[in-house]
Amino acid sequence: MTLIHRKDTRPLKVGNVMVGGKDQVVIQSMTTTKTHDVEATVKEIERLEEAGCQIVRVACPDERAANAIPEIKKRINIPLVVDIHFNYKLALKAIEGGADKIRINPGNIGKRDKVEAVVNAAKEKGIPMRIGVNAGSLERHILEKYGYPTAEGMVESALHHIKILEDLDFHDIVVSLKASDVKLAIEAYEKAAEVIPYPLHLGITESGTLFAGSIKSAAGMGAILSKGIGSTMRISLSADPVEEVKVAKELLKTFGLASNAATLISCPTCGRIEIDLIKIANEVEEYISTIKAPIKVAVLGCAVNGPGEAREADIGIAGARGEGLLFRHGEIIRKVPEDTMVEELKIEVDKIAEEFIQK
Ligand code: SF4
Repeated sequence: MTLIHRKDTRPLKVGNVMVGGKDQVVIQSMTTTKTHDVEATVKEIERLEEAGCQIVRVACPDERAANAIPEIKKRINIPLVVDIHFNYKLALKAIEGGADKIRINPGNIGKRDKVEAVVNAAKEKGIPMRIGVNAGSLERHILEKYGYPTAEGMVESALHHIKILEDLDFHDIVVSLKASDVKLAIEAYEKAAEVIPYPLHLGITESGTLFAGSIKSAAGMGAILSKGIGSTMRISLSADPVEEVKVAKELLKTFGLASNAATLISCPTCGRIEIDLIKIANEVEEYISTIKAPIKVAVLGCAVNGPGEAREADIGIAGARGEGLLFRHGEIIRKVPEDTMVEELKIEVDKIAEEFIQK
């Protein structure tokens, strides 16, 4: 399924990565290391990049973290977002240090001259700002108006921060409206997409551990993506952030929104199974996780229904007694011995991925 994705958001650049204005959703994640620990932070960012993370965010809670930004920036390849809560001095330091984007809510910075200082610095460097609305920390006047966090209140909060930036003629804005309540997040993003022309950063906050959080995030962000909303996203998990990237990639593949990742099709297995499918499927999944082409690879337990069931696969393997059947788009191309079938599949996968990349 290829979705009609919302392209009419105002495009902007985070480093060399375009966000908004196109039919693609950029994958982000956030480091879990202490930002002032440059070695550990850079190492984690390298792992995230390898997994497919396109933009990375670091927390900047204090001066030590802000001082580490130039060195981190020098040693990584993907754009760096610096997350600041309200301290304008840290924001200025992060911008000066080479941040490709900052995440700060202008309404929380304080006096107008401080807001102006941050906006001017961002303008000078040509970097965008993300306004991060969170259902759990809405402004008091909004909570008093609505009584509790609502989608309307979240959008109102976003518009309040947007206005501060627009009044200063700043328009390189990204907006997120995170909530841990999935229904609330869906509603907030839907309402925001109607009135906010800037790219939306999707997120379900505090979603939980790897298993539960992935399902919750997929349910929420899947609903939002299915409406064509979202230009960038982060899956938030209480897990290794590499897992966040893997989940994001898988989710985007589901909607045909990832142009640089391979998909595995594997059968659920049944009594007709002829091979150790679960082991093979996991091995193949691991293998294709670094392939940067949108190919589909199938692993099926038997040849009875297998190749026909996985007709959309660019390449696949079906177990037969003592051997494997290699097939392309549902047609068997040759038989391979059981003990080498996974290796043969990998060789074919590489060939097809190469063809896609050459195209
Ligand atoms: Fe069963 Fe074969 Fe279908 Fe797998 S491919 S579910 S083993 S019939």
